[in-house]
Amino acid sequence: MERKVRVRFAPSPTGPLHMGGVRTALFNYLFAKKHGGDFLLRIEDTDQNRFVPGAEEYIIESLKWCGLVPDEGVGFGGELGPYRQSERKPMYKKYADLLIENGFAYYAFDTAEELDEFRKEAEAKKEVFSYDLHTRNNLKNSLTLSSEEVQARLASGEHYVIRFKMPENRDIVEEDLIRGRVSFNTNQLDDKVLFKSDGMPTYHLANVVDDHLMNITHVIRGEEWLPSMPLHILLYESLGISETRPRFSHLPLILKPEGKGKLSKRDGDKMGFPVFPLLWKDSVTGESYRGYREDGYFPEAFVNMLALLGWNSGTEQEFFSMDELIESFDLSRVVKSGARFDPEKAKWFNRHYLQQKSAAELAGLFLPILTEKGITAEQQQLEHIVGMIKERCEFVKDIWTQAHFFFQAPESYDEKTMKSKWKPDTAEKLQAISELLETVTEWKAEAIKETFSAFMTAKEWGFGAVMVPIRLALVGGSSGPDLFEICELIGKTETIGRIKKACDTIQL
Ligand code: GLU
Repeated sequence: MERKVRVRFAPSPTGPLHMGGVRTALFNYLFAKKHGGDFLLRIEDTDQNRFVPGAEEYIIESLKWCGLVPDEGVGFGGELGPYRQSERKPMYKKYADLLIENGFAYYAFDTAEELDEFRKEAEAKKEVFSYDLHTRNNLKNSLTLSSEEVQARLASGEHYVIRFKMPENRDIVEEDLIRGRVSFNTNQLDDKVLFKSDGMPTYHLANVVDDHLMNITHVIRGEEWLPSMPLHILLYESLGISETRPRFSHLPLILKPEGKGKLSKRDGDKMGFPVFPLLWKDSVTGESYRGYREDGYFPEAFVNMLALLGWNSGTEQEFFSMDELIESFDLSRVVKSGARFDPEKAKWFNRHYLQQKSAAELAGLFLPILTEKGITAEQQQLEHIVGMIKERCEFVKDIWTQAHFFFQAPESYDEKTMKSKWKPDTAEKLQAISELLETVTEWKAEAIKETFSAFMTAKEWGFGAVMVPIRLALVGGSSGPDLFEICELIGKTETIGRIKKACDTIQL
């Protein structure tokens, strides 16, 4: 019988979720939804030493912000919980015991200090110490000690670990759904720790047992987990649960903008872009890392950008809604090689999604920025302003940069424009124009323009010589939307006031 597709996103709460982690969650989500399946969130917190307070909440909030809402998982309910591994602690021991019983794993009693010694000795010989089939027979474990001694050590409460006994010289071959055929020889692999005497499993055992118990059909995870795959395959085999084994897919790395090396949080700091979905404040160091959300990205832009990091639809299409992504997503179109991250492209996506939004929606998003500055405005007026300038914006915060002069008179004037356009007779001309503007009764852009043009023609003044200085007086610079629209929106008194102020202030 065809199994229902079930995938999981299984982060460890060791810090904020990197954008690569969000992409893993996204691809899992898309795959699940495409196949009418379930998307689970499992928190892998077996390594309590690496637990970071707030990380789990951060993960959940990030997923919600991106619209990747799990069907089951920590914070989302479900039949096969608990979904936090530390709460599943009692479930794992029987699997570790089963492996021991059947000779697939063994107890090891070597202390951390002893193993450190071996590491140092190996280093001195420019070698790397590995607990494996070449060394295990000379170490302190249930393969070398008598069974009485093993029992005695266990009974006395001595610390131990359970290690997987990697079989000798076997080729583990698997069809990765992204990479195709991948093969490993077990002679290259070490005897990983599966379980510790404090009753806690390690990542490998907990991950496999949980994928099994949670009926996971497909494991879609980062490339860094590919070396663990042969061990996981062997665990399924040794536990006698191979028929429930999921299919594996390993996603390509996300590379630095320059194309070489894995994208790291330091790249973000250096080049001024976020690598985390949300702002993260490190509670220990007090450092904070910027997030896409707080930097003003729309979640749909972030998700669209992430989807194309390592996947393409095979068409020219670049803009995808979540539904379109679900429709088009296919693991076979995920690339094997690393995907270069381009921060400019992220902005480009944001710009696109901003342009898609109505003036009414943008006005609503812009309002808090105004309120924070103590400025009040009518919704209708805001919509009008936003409609005029949105084309120049990538982010909602750009609306202020592009439109501040609608709400506040300029406090200074652009030097360059002043020097090149403010002539000895400019003030006099502008005085005349402000007197003219006093006479305009219908304060509408069209009417102002007509009166102004007629006056200019009569005076035979060049438009350029007057328009740029007026703009300078009204907005403080030389660019912006239509001048007469600005006049209309800021009102007659304000327009005339600003022109007069510029004439009084600008000294050549
Ligand atoms: N806990 C692992 C991580 O932090 C999960 C790897 C996997 O998906 O198997 O990414």
